[in-house]
Amino acid sequence: MKNISERDKKHLWHPLTQHKLHPEAVAITRAKEAVLYDEEGREYIDGIASWYTCMYGHCNDYIVRKAHEQMQRLDHVVFSGFTHDVAVELSEALIGILPGNQEKLFFSDNGSTASDVAIKMALQYHFNRGKRKNVLVAFEEGFHGDTFGAMSVSGLSVYNGPFEDFFLTVERIPVPDGKNNAEVADRLKKIVSKGNVAGFIYEPLVQGAAAMKMHDAEGLNDLIAICKENEVITIADEVMTGFGKTGRNFASEYMDNLPDIISMSKALTAGMLPMAITSCTQAVYDAFYSDDISKGLFHGHTYSANPVACSVALAGIELLRSEEMQQNIQRVIGAHREFDEKMREHPKVASTRQLGVIYAMDLNVQMERYGNLRDRLFRFFMDNGVFLRPLGSTVYILAPYIVTDEQLQKIYETIERALEEVL
Ligand SMILES: *Cc1c(COP(=O)(O)O)cnc(C)c1O
Repeated sequence: MKNISERDKKHLWHPLTQHKLHPEAVAITRAKEAVLYDEEGREYIDGIASWYTCMYGHCNDYIVRKAHEQMQRLDHVVFSGFTHDVAVELSEALIGILPGNQEKLFFSDNGSTASDVAIKMALQYHFNRGKRKNVLVAFEEGFHGDTFGAMSVSGLSVYNGPFEDFFLTVERIPVPDGKNNAEVADRLKKIVSKGNVAGFIYEPLVQGAAAMKMHDAEGLNDLIAICKENEVITIADEVMTGFGKTGRNFASEYMDNLPDIISMSKALTAGMLPMAITSCTQAVYDAFYSDDISKGLFHGHTYSANPVACSVALAGIELLRSEEMQQNIQRVIGAHREFDEKMREHPKVASTRQLGVIYAMDLNVQMERYGNLRDRLFRFFMDNGVFLRPLGSTVYILAPYIVTDEQLQKIYETIERALEEVL
């Protein structure tokens, strides 16, 4: 098994990668708790929880046991016309922690499909009620995935150039930052006044791919209110923010006005298996409930509600709700706050922000998103045993909840050293 990263180059095509510029991939052979181990035995603290998935730690013993038990009992069955106990138990547990207005769950495979399902729900909701509404509203720097629907409602990106002619019709508004709230609300009012807006999709409070950009809860609350007054379906994309990261189970809990639809993935399955869920209110579901077969939601994925993925998600929710995990979340929040005391005064730091266990700092330099300095920072972190993935001039931490105090200190110290040695 030697030299996996060399053999990788022959047949593998990696996501979000220009292979000519970035030919090297680090070969990880195992992972435990907050640590990744590469093929040469080096260790890296997983400072971004492998894209915000394994929040309860890699290869969590409880999750592994639950998955193993389920694998031996029922591996997979078609979820159209069949059901199973793990899907039912998961639905009960998830509805128990979702915002109070969520009633129905629809399964798919990843965050992008969860967004696409949400968009189809919003469009068909109006269609089924005899209304043609073909416009979607989204935030300027939003990210909702890479499939066509999800990509369309994401912020315009230089990487999406080849596909823009094929996008859905989308109106983009800036995020409310506390100062521009009234302005953004006015823009939304103007857009929805035309009567053709089907839905508004947003990442509540934190935009992950926009480098953990955060916005104002009151401002977002007002935007949701405008949608409700104008029969615009609201879609909270909680693929990144869901399952405790913002300090509450879902970021939507910070607003009084609740979304009609919520999409979730990533930490849903605790970093173990791919699965996604799009939840909705009874009212959204009812618009599809009819004697007319064509009013159903004719969308489906082969692996919908895979029992093993459901068992893992169910175990993840149990862990999230445990006293121990809640204490871990508070511990990480406190540690970030302390680190921030130092960082926000640092001459090489332009600004910092935190919501829950999500901590981000903008460095006092300009650089391209995947430019040279970003690569040098990434390399410095890796050489020092910390996996962080800077975005442009932003360094952010989103470690698993079970990261130890020592590991957190090592992440902080490595960032501080990078400010001295790389910048
Ligand atoms: C990651 C992400 C997605 C896309 O999820 P995939 O599983 O990568 O398709 C969508 N929305 C948000 C907010 C995300 O962070």
